[in-house]
Amino acid sequence: MTTQFRFPGFIDVHVHFRDPGVPEAETTASGLAAARRGGFAAVVTMPNTAPACDSPELIAYQRKAAECGRPEVVLLPSACITKGRRGEEVADLESLAAAGAAFFTDDGSYVAADRVMEEAMKRAAALGMVVCQHALPKTDGVIRDCALARRLGLRTVPASAEADAIRRDLSLCRATGCRLHVQHISTAEGVELVRNARREGLPVTAEATPHHLLLTCDDLAADDANFKMAPPLGTREDRAELRKAVKEGLLMFATDHAPHPAAAKSGGFAAAANGIVGLETAIPITYGVMVEEEGMPVERWAAAWHDMPLSILPPGACEGLCETAVETGEPHVVDLGSFATLSRNCPYGGMKFSCWPVAGSVKSHP
Ligand SMILES: [Zn+2]
Repeated sequence: MTTQFRFPGFIDVHVHFRDPGVPEAETTASGLAAARRGGFAAVVTMPNTAPACDSPELIAYQRKAAECGRPEVVLLPSACITKGRRGEEVADLESLAAAGAAFFTDDGSYVAADRVMEEAMKRAAALGMVVCQHALPKTDGVIRDCALARRLGLRTVPASAEADAIRRDLSLCRATGCRLHVQHISTAEGVELVRNARREGLPVTAEATPHHLLLTCDDLAADDANFKMAPPLGTREDRAELRKAVKEGLLMFATDHAPHPAAAKSGGFAAAANGIVGLETAIPITYGVMVEEEGMPVERWAAAWHDMPLSILPPGACEGLCETAVETGEPHVVDLGSFATLSRNCPYGGMKFSCWPVAGSVKSHP
């Protein structure tokens, strides 16, 4: 017995396609194929490419590369907050906006200098654009404090690091009036800060990833870098707060799809690169966690994949978006061999989920 649902096209506002930069990990074509297979009608690429996407020419390059995905999947490039993502000098935000940037972020790096972030937020506010922050200051920690961290002697990231970053940005949001989006929020304290800021009336939004909603550092048993990401997995308490915040409509979903070649993910927690692929498992995981386990109404779950992400994008950016269809019923096993992404850094192989995008479902309105 299966049931099908159709929704306005799902939008993932946080993907890394490595184009230009690391074509063996992901190209624009393979990333868009993974998005389509995962049930997404639009994706926003992060600008931590090589070179970093800090010029109108690179925005134009990515938009051109993305033509192969249309009409099923729309790719919207985001652009850097600072030149070269170095955090020192604000990029030419006005030209980047004119070239079609979806929003501004230095994702992968936190913009630490108050003066630089304040100037960026003032200029973005004048443009009516959203500034997104990778809310984790530079750290040599690789994991939150947990049994595995202690057993392996790994350097840890304190939960307060995220809260400190969010607190600083909220004060700049208050001072500049700029719309702020907190990327991949991962701690209970961070969630509480965003909730209070919203009550205060600040124009702030935030996203939670499927991995932070499904997994915790308290459950880690092996030195497996497929569980290493930035920010790192939180505690069970953090996960419970994230789920509560999604259910109440405070947080949208985003994958932080981060493909890496196998070599970059070997060497365990201490040495491996951060991040996991997520586009082809995001619908099953978020449905399983939020609708099946937490009892979130399916329409509100879908809103956290469409209405809420849409709200941080420029007007008209997703006009004519295709629909997303999902099917629930028999559990299916995650088969990494069937992935369209070029990378396999994924901790979900063999897990079972009962909601999947309908194959070929991302298509134009009839
Ligand atoms: Zn990030």
